[in-house]
Amino acid sequence: MRTAGRMGGGDIGTCGVCHTVASLTCGGCGSMHYCGKEHQRQHWPKHRVECPPYKVVSTPEAGKHMVASRKLTAGQMLVYESPVVVAPLSICPLLCLGCHGSITGDDFPRCPKCWWPLCSLACASSRLHKGECAILALDTKHIAPPTEQGETPRYDVIAPIRCLLLQSTNPSGWQTILDMAHHSEQRQLNKEEQHLITVRYLSDVLKLDYDLDILNQARGAVATNGMEIRSDKNTRVRAMYPLIRLFNNSCAPNVHLSVAYNGMIQARTTVPVSVGEPLCICYTGALMPIWERNETLTLSYHFSCNCPRCGDPTELGTHFSSPRCPDCVQSYLLPCTWLGETVWRCKLCKQEESNAQVLENVKIWLQRIEMDDIFSGCSLKRSKAALQEVEDDFHPQHYVWMRAAHSALYRMSDNNTEQGLNMRIKIWKRLVALYTVLEPGLTKRRGMSLLETGIIMLRAAQLEHREGEPFMPELLERVRTVVKYLDEASQILSMEPTESKGPAMVQKTEEVKAEAEQFLQRLDSETVRAE
Ligand SMILES: [Zn+2]
Ligand SMILES: [Zn+2]
Ligand SMILES: [Zn+2]
Ligand SMILES: [Zn+2]
Ligand SMILES: [Zn+2]
Ligand SMILES: [Zn+2]
Repeated sequence: MRTAGRMGGGDIGTCGVCHTVASLTCGGCGSMHYCGKEHQRQHWPKHRVECPPYKVVSTPEAGKHMVASRKLTAGQMLVYESPVVVAPLSICPLLCLGCHGSITGDDFPRCPKCWWPLCSLACASSRLHKGECAILALDTKHIAPPTEQGETPRYDVIAPIRCLLLQSTNPSGWQTILDMAHHSEQRQLNKEEQHLITVRYLSDVLKLDYDLDILNQARGAVATNGMEIRSDKNTRVRAMYPLIRLFNNSCAPNVHLSVAYNGMIQARTTVPVSVGEPLCICYTGALMPIWERNETLTLSYHFSCNCPRCGDPTELGTHFSSPRCPDCVQSYLLPCTWLGETVWRCKLCKQEESNAQVLENVKIWLQRIEMDDIFSGCSLKRSKAALQEVEDDFHPQHYVWMRAAHSALYRMSDNNTEQGLNMRIKIWKRLVALYTVLEPGLTKRRGMSLLETGIIMLRAAQLEHREGEPFMPELLERVRTVVKYLDEASQILSMEPTESKGPAMVQKTEEVKAEAEQFLQRLDSETVRAE
């Protein structure tokens, strides 16, 4: 157990016990103060319950970020918090500023004051829109309000305005925004078009009474920290959270985020974490190939990732981005660097391909998968051949294979023949193995995949029991594995927020598990009788 006597940093506060001036801080969280070791020790039984499992630290290389304040187990809850700002995405289809509902049809209503599209006139006076309406109305020539249906970048101005409004409605929220990374100098230096347009709109059209630096900072903070979530109207919006932004990036993260229906976000560990180890999420999504992660991190977050996965050309042995070597076929091309323009080289025969070549081939395959032409005809034989074709071009754990595998599974989702079930099991097992490396531990994706695999394995076992002549010990073993998968799925999914699909998924998992256990009992008794 951690002792209560460690000395923390030198800042001054009031003692958590006697409220006198205190300079000793809790070594775990750094936020609780004590006048001396005596009161710290006395307070520990109470404080240990509240002492946050994370600590915010700052280093020159990684900036301000979160580390584990003590040894953490997998599934440790870290943060459950509300957003400070929710707003439309930078580019999005028409969205009601009063409720974030989508707007359909061509003769949609507009706010009488600011002229922005609404889902209904009632939304003009909604709490969400009221504050910004007066500001947006300063655009008397209606330069920004979208004119027609379709995706538009015009909504980019809304989030910064909602941030600026916090200054009077939620001062501590405003402080949080000011404290966020914004990279606005680089954005101006790089002449980032959307950034410049939005800031110019705020300063020149709306003539907002703010320093240009503040406007740049607000727009930059939104671009850097806004996270895409689903609104309660099931539209895509972006939200900014006070603590979540402090998690650094890793492409094989140890923290899992779940957003609840009400916009609250939950962060918890997925694997055990040791004291002082950085707590990381994956900004881009871990199931992205290296070039996509690299591009997003460079353009939107202004850094290059040096996580263990990006530093390893095989991406932790998965070869998730590696094409097969066209020359020697038995090996794969690896990126020579993950920074900037790379070449891809075969370790075995030294064959090289340019980044553009590699990406072009991926693009062609993704188009084919998207158009569904490789699985057309829908027969098992065709799907199998198509997946094999993908493996002729890429590593069997490649991003393109993963995408093709999901397409194939979708195509086969009604195929409950013996061959169909067996093929689905094989694909799911390979996907689970891949996810276990790229998003290790207690992640929702692993939970859902284990559930899916468990269900199909159970159906296959039941079918074989009904119609085949199964070898009993082997069948029993398989159903026991099903129960094991469902156990883990249930454990993972029960960690999802109550206000999410989590509870329904747990119920489904438990139902299938009960069915599997019953089936197991039946098989057991049949085996005993046969003996
Ligand atoms: Zn004291
Ligand atoms: Zn503490
Ligand atoms: Zn509305
Ligand atoms: Zn309005
Ligand atoms: Zn990385
Ligand atoms: Zn080769």
